[in-house]
Amino acid sequence: MEINPTTEAKELRPRATRAENRALRGRVAQLEARLREEGSLRGELREQLAQRQTFISQLAKAVPAALYIYSLATKTEVFLNDRLYQVLQYPSDEIGQLKPCLLEALMHPYDKRRLPMHHEKLRNAPAGSPVQMELRLRVQNGQWKWFRVQDTVFTRDAHGSPEQLLGTIQDINDEKDFTEKLIGQKEFYENILNNIPARISVFDVEQTCLFVNQREAARAAESQSIVGDSYAAYCQALQWDEATATRHQQQFRQALATRQEVTWEEAQATANHAPTHSLRKFYPVVNEREQVTYLIGYGVDITQRKQIEQQLADQQEFVRQVIEANPNPICVQDEAGHFILANDAYAELHHLTMAELLGRKAPAISLEHDLALLDSGASISFEVQHSRRDGQEAWYHTTKKPFTRPDGTRCLLTIAADITDLNRARVAAEDSVRAKEIFLANMSHEIRTPMNGIVGLSRLMKKQATTPEQGEYLDLILSNAESLLVVINDILDFAKIESGKVELETIPFDVAAIVHGTTKSLAFLAEAKGLLLQAEVHDDPLPIVEGDPVRLNQVLVNLINNAIKFTSAGEVTVTVDVSHHEADLVHLQFCVEDTGIGISADKFDRVFKSFGQANSSTSRLYGGTGLGLAICKNLIELQGGRIWLDSLPGQGSRFYFNLPFPVSTQAPLVREAPLPLAAGLLQGLRVLLVEDNPVNTFLARALLQSWEVEADVASDGEQALAIADASPYDLILMDIQMPRMNGLEATEQLRRLPNPNQQTPIIALTANAMKSDLDSYTQAGFTDCLVKPYHENSLYLTIARNTGRDVVPAPLPMPEPGSPTQSVPSYGFEGLGRLAHDASFVRKMQQLFVDTVPRQLVQLREAVLLHDWPAATLLVHALKSTYGNLQIDEAQRYMKKFEEILKKNPEAAMLLNLLRTISRVTTQITDVFNIQLCY
Ligand code: ADP
Repeated sequence: MEINPTTEAKELRPRATRAENRALRGRVAQLEARLREEGSLRGELREQLAQRQTFISQLAKAVPAALYIYSLATKTEVFLNDRLYQVLQYPSDEIGQLKPCLLEALMHPYDKRRLPMHHEKLRNAPAGSPVQMELRLRVQNGQWKWFRVQDTVFTRDAHGSPEQLLGTIQDINDEKDFTEKLIGQKEFYENILNNIPARISVFDVEQTCLFVNQREAARAAESQSIVGDSYAAYCQALQWDEATATRHQQQFRQALATRQEVTWEEAQATANHAPTHSLRKFYPVVNEREQVTYLIGYGVDITQRKQIEQQLADQQEFVRQVIEANPNPICVQDEAGHFILANDAYAELHHLTMAELLGRKAPAISLEHDLALLDSGASISFEVQHSRRDGQEAWYHTTKKPFTRPDGTRCLLTIAADITDLNRARVAAEDSVRAKEIFLANMSHEIRTPMNGIVGLSRLMKKQATTPEQGEYLDLILSNAESLLVVINDILDFAKIESGKVELETIPFDVAAIVHGTTKSLAFLAEAKGLLLQAEVHDDPLPIVEGDPVRLNQVLVNLINNAIKFTSAGEVTVTVDVSHHEADLVHLQFCVEDTGIGISADKFDRVFKSFGQANSSTSRLYGGTGLGLAICKNLIELQGGRIWLDSLPGQGSRFYFNLPFPVSTQAPLVREAPLPLAAGLLQGLRVLLVEDNPVNTFLARALLQSWEVEADVASDGEQALAIADASPYDLILMDIQMPRMNGLEATEQLRRLPNPNQQTPIIALTANAMKSDLDSYTQAGFTDCLVKPYHENSLYLTIARNTGRDVVPAPLPMPEPGSPTQSVPSYGFEGLGRLAHDASFVRKMQQLFVDTVPRQLVQLREAVLLHDWPAATLLVHALKSTYGNLQIDEAQRYMKKFEEILKKNPEAAMLLNLLRTISRVTTQITDVFNIQLCY
């Protein structure tokens, strides 16, 4: 320890006078005396000072604090105790170099700047009051450490201003560290709490607010601290309305009482904004003594979630309304088959309320089905019947479709549509189709039945005709009857197509042969009008294909017939090309081109419609029903093809159609022509004829008698059963429509019940030409069927075939006039070229002959009677070529003669004579053909 001695000021004096010197000597003496005095005083003082210094130094040693005395004037320490060195961790010799400005030398520059403020505080502090300051000093190892200095004014100058400070220094580094750590931790947690997207507050059990995080505090009206507030003040600060505040109070009390977390949601209205929604909680914090120490309040803004929930709910409501508004029953089932969505229509359908329906499963059988569907992922549609609440039956078309939801679960959607009315309409439509069929069948029956009589009796009469005129009249009757039958056949054909009852054949055939053959067979028609008819097969040889040659022929005949009919001069050309190949299919394109009247473009569609004729005058001028093209279109489309046309009025038409055919690897099928049968085959047979129509009975009986067949007659099914019960017959001819018991019923009973005719062949004699009817006859037990009006030869052959009398090949049984064994004029098919071996084509030719030639002969006769020589010439031309094609030489010879007479000197009587002979020959040929066509 050291005290600095005070220094005395020294004055320099100027040179003086003697008096002055004396005075000075006196003065010096005085001063010396005073000095001596003062010297002894100083000694005393020095003694006192030393004592005081010793005291202070001992005190400074005894005090367990680092002490210093600091002079504000010199900014130096006038005293430092050893403890200070220890505190500063400096050895005293080292620190000696820093004196007397030790503290300033070691002080952190930042703290140095704060010193004046500290001193200012001391100046203002009441006397004796210490003032503290925390500052950093560099300790011996060069590091900064925190110290707390506490200064008190030690001495003051004469004006009372602080002169010296007595200070203590305390090492607070650990304390500071600890505090900083504490503050750090506090900040850390507060940061977390402030940054949690939630409003957090903590209350003690007295409801005093202990903490609020920034989010919650931010809602306070003013930025005043709400920590320390009561709950009421807290609510007020947060501007909660009374209801919210009360609710919070209740929840608080509940959490406190139950020591359980309480959760609730609340909406708070905010000025000018949509309400905000919060999820609030109170967590009671319970100590180990099971006491609630404080409660944490927690609030999260769930406005967005609420908005999304609302949107979702709106969407769900929308979907629900859409489903609800749908009159069709709709439901959705989950993976277990529970109904999770349905509309009233669905609930109503199952006689349930919506509440009863939702959540429950479908009934067992249906559920099993539904679950299988869910598994398979396949959708199905079916029709099902439900009974309504009012007991009425309703039909629903139901579709079930599984689908996968975004969360991966599968659901089953069921939609049903009420088709009761539709079904009724369908049934009505079916009924009307059936009615139409029945009508057609009846019409056919009603026309064919008398026609059977007319045709049959005319033929019978023709055999007994005594004068040529009688023969001609009868031919006229026959020809007209046949025209009528063509119309009926067309209508039936069309009806069959419309009701989808056309059956297509699939056999290997030669398309080129059909095209050539059909063209050739119609050549006589073209020639009759002076037209050139030709066929061009461009890709000859065409491949053998599989399909229906009869239907192709039917289409071609129709188109060629039309072309000839609507062309007065020029030519008709039939072409066929390979359009393209596709896998094993060959697409053929056919075209029938003429130079006739043409069709205007606006009628193109119409002509393919049933009963559609280009002009209303067409039927007057050209005849026809308007069914031909509709039949063609249907037949072509049935075979997968298409028909269209191109035409210019006045210039001609082109009818195109294409057809796809599988290419065949087999040779074309040629049906063997049937062998002609001998006359007298049926002699001695016993036949039961069941027929209610007296004319038809008469006719059939006459025919049977002429063949020496013994015939018994029954006029209805009941009578037939009675007669058949009495004795066996070789064959039964059974009409279908009869009073009391019809032919179907009678046959069915004959087959079922024991009687002598249980195995007897039964032939249906029917005027119903519908195929469905023919099928039902076979099912009822009929052996065979003969469609009215039947040709006597057909009856003959049918009986022979079904009684085993057709086994002997023999010359054709052709009746002479008045006798059934007349010889037949010669004919042949070699003129048809390679088609001569195509049985179906030959048949077609025969049918054409039977259908057209007798009619043409009638027309020829009319022309002769009217002296219409041009018409007669055309007809002769056509007939001549037909006879030529079929090598009916006799008729052809007569026709040539006829032509010559016509050219030179047409005379009616001579021509009519000739015509009778030609007609006879023709009848003989048609008879033969008819027999052969019966096979
Ligand atoms: P139809 O000939 O019996 O009246 P179609 O169905 O065969 O019936 O023909 C329908 C209509 O198409 C005919 O009435 C006629 O107006 C028109 N038509 C058909 N073919 C031709 C053709 N080659 N030239 C001009 N018009 C035709």
